[in-house]
Amino acid sequence: MRGVNKYFGTHHVLKDIDLDVHKGEVVIVIGPSGSGKSTLCRSINRLETIDSGEIRIDGVLLPEEGKALAKLRSDVGMVFQAFNLFAHKTVLENVTLAPIKVHKLSKKDAEKRAMELLTRVGVADHANKLPAQLSGGQQQRVAIARSLAMDPKLILLDEPTSALDPEMINEVLDVMIGLARSGMTMVVVTHEMGFAKKAADRVVFMSDGAIVEQSPPDQFFSAPKSDRAKDFLSKIL
Ligand code: ADP
Ligand code: MG
Repeated sequence: MRGVNKYFGTHHVLKDIDLDVHKGEVVIVIGPSGSGKSTLCRSINRLETIDSGEIRIDGVLLPEEGKALAKLRSDVGMVFQAFNLFAHKTVLENVTLAPIKVHKLSKKDAEKRAMELLTRVGVADHANKLPAQLSGGQQQRVAIARSLAMDPKLILLDEPTSALDPEMINEVLDVMIGLARSGMTMVVVTHEMGFAKKAADRVVFMSDGAIVEQSPPDQFFSAPKSDRAKDFLSKIL
């Protein structure tokens, strides 16, 4: 991202954002509520348009529309705070739908791959259930499997554990840690310091629409540079 600005009306929500995420890197985005973290993520797969600046993936500007936009959405997976599964489709169908439709996989191949992914996130036993029959933690793991099924170049996870009951948070974080260790490129909005310390290469701290500082996790949590980061950490720790 280079010089990215975004307004909602007169409200300036992304301010001159410059951000590089390298292949295989795990970047945590942290900051107060309303600081622009979700808007940043959403603009990377063009769920929001930006008003100025550039966003490139593998050197290519984000497409505006059409087939190229559909391709972008399959290259950039997104996992939201609310699980966003298709309520009337089974777990297996949730994971096979896009690969069949967008990647033109046969049903058989899509199901084979989906079962591998559901096994990897620990919910293969629930493949034929509807999302509502699963716990929140299980649903969020299905959402991760669904985004992996598109073989994305990058996965954006926006507060993936913040809607979960405490006992379910670790099962989702463990899947995310495994994903990070497998070399997946990830941008994760999270305040889970355990995850940040175990899996993140870099912490990006946002405040009031701007990136205020970027540091390795141990440095950020033990010795934040800016007063705004110090103030924020004193509230969450
Ligand atoms: P965060 O994820 O860090 O909590 P957001 O990116 O959701 O922050 O929001 C940044 C700012 O933009 C907030 O002030 C929020 O109220 C505002 N905002 C977000 N989405 C919209 C929208 N669709 N329309 C108007 N304002 C919005
Ligand atoms: Mg948010």
